[in-house]
Formats: sequence, structure tokens, C-alpha cells
Amino acid sequence: MIPDEERIVPEINSELCVRCGDCLSACPEGALSLGEEGIILDEEKCAYCGDCEDICPTGAIALPFAIVLAPLEDEEEEDVG
Ligand code: SF4
Ligand code: SF4
Repeated sequence: MIPDEERIVPEINSELCVRCGDCLSACPEGALSLGEEGIILDEEKCAYCGDCEDICPTGAIALPFAIVLAPLEDEEEEDVG
């Protein structure tokens, strides 16, 4: 289990958010809600899937980072067993 202080969750820029609600319907975990101050994220529910970032029309949501490791060409040919 990831400690709370190390949990990585989307960052929401309330100045860019136009409160369209698209991210609320896109979130498969029901982790987002709309409050008086803007979008509220329930960090416990967030699965860090990125759907909210993809659908946001204003770029108000950003995942801090996403790492995709692609195999190096040399590694694909090497016998690593
Ligand atoms: S990253 Fe996925 S689970 Fe987390 S708030 Fe966005 S849509 Fe919901
Ligand atoms: S999709 Fe983007 S602009 Fe729309 S409510 Fe969510 S954060 Fe705000």
C-alpha cells in the first residue's frame, strides 16, 4: 500500500477549470465531485487512470507525471534469462 504522503494524484488548476463537469462523468472511480470552489478530488478513490486529464477541454487537470518504459533495442535482442 502506498503511504498517503507518496500518493500521486492529478493536479487540478481551478483557474483553468470552467466547471463543465466532463471529468466527473469520465472518472470510472467516482473520485471527482464539483464543489463551490471547483473540482474536488477524493484521493482515496483515484486510480490514476488519466481519463480526467484526457477529457478536460481546458487542460485544467494534469497528472504530475506518467512514466512509460519502452524496451531498449539492445535489450530486446539480449538473452536476459
Ligand atoms: S485519474 Fe482516473 S480515477 Fe483519478 S480522478 Fe482522474 S479519472 Fe478519476
Ligand atoms: S473537465 Fe476540466 S474544465 Fe471541466 S470540470 Fe473537469 S477540470 Fe473543470
